[in-house]
Amino acid sequence: MNELVSLLQQLVAIDSCNPPGQEEEIYRFIQVWLERHGIASQRVEFAPGRPSLWAEIRGERSETILLSGHLDTVSIASGWENPPLQPQIRNDRLYGLGSTDMKGGLALLLEVFRQAALRPKLPYTLRLLLSADEEDQYRGAAEFARKGLTENIIFALVAEATAGKVGIGERGEFWLRVFFHGREAHGSTPEQGVNAILACGRFLCLLEEKFQRAPPSLRSGSSTWNVGRIEGGRQVNIVAEQCWADLDIRLEFEEDKEKVIQLLESSGQSVCDQAQFRWETISYQRPMRSDPKDPMIQQFVDSVRTVTGNEPKLDLVTYCTDLPSLFPAKAPPFVLYGPGDIRQAHQPNEYLDLKSFKECTKVLENFLLS
Ligand SMILES: [Zn+2]
Repeated sequence: MNELVSLLQQLVAIDSCNPPGQEEEIYRFIQVWLERHGIASQRVEFAPGRPSLWAEIRGERSETILLSGHLDTVSIASGWENPPLQPQIRNDRLYGLGSTDMKGGLALLLEVFRQAALRPKLPYTLRLLLSADEEDQYRGAAEFARKGLTENIIFALVAEATAGKVGIGERGEFWLRVFFHGREAHGSTPEQGVNAILACGRFLCLLEEKFQRAPPSLRSGSSTWNVGRIEGGRQVNIVAEQCWADLDIRLEFEEDKEKVIQLLESSGQSVCDQAQFRWETISYQRPMRSDPKDPMIQQFVDSVRTVTGNEPKLDLVTYCTDLPSLFPAKAPPFVLYGPGDIRQAHQPNEYLDLKSFKECTKVLENFLLS
């Protein structure tokens, strides 16, 4: 187990921030590590210098279980108490950038894969896919799919942080930009112009109000929206002609997308006054759902129960993973299960609870190797 924690520390110490998107060093480290344990791996690039890695261990059956992780982390936030790339252990927690998202999951997948290679017999074939660019546009995962590496999979496991729960689905991610276009005028005579910033401001407030009230009009009630960026105007003494904002909408059901678009358009039209309103999609990842009654999922839940002694909660995770890009058409049964709590991720002083790390490792060993 100490060796596993040491592997985790080494992974955290490698800068794989995205942006800018630098997976080369961590790719090389893992490739060499696997090789040292007798496992050959392959390189797949979606763009020059942006490698993802995959490897396979043959089992008695050709039916394949996919193990999914990502190589990149988000960029460094301000406010870290310790240098984020110098992992430190305090009170059975490992502090460092990406410790939860998802170098903990990565270390655990590597460890289970290493053990699998030592077994004379394995029930299933195991395929490890470690992607680049998960924290930006999922292009590493999409490239795996294009190469046919996600075909004929009977079960997929994504080792993202689930805090002891078994994730059986994830919400969709609908990113879009709204634009308001008004008319410039001297700042001292605002009545002569049409202020795009004001129109955008009214729009955002109205959307917030509608989402507070409207989730019932969306089927699930658990769809959310957030405004992440806004930019507008040119100068303090000019009525702003342009304003845009980036929205991040999370959808529980695919059907909710149409309802959200209607909500957006009606809000945009009702506030824009003399300004013009339009929007465009930045990206869309569909919601994913797995059937909890599937025998492989039941088997996974059995492993969690056996190792932890508790009945795990089956739930949706709030975030989006590589899954929609790995399986652009139809997904096999899958679970999300990995060490740590996602509320730790994407912020300063991220840490991983080492107890959950060790427990998850045992669950995966139980499920995949016994
Ligand atoms: Zn992640």
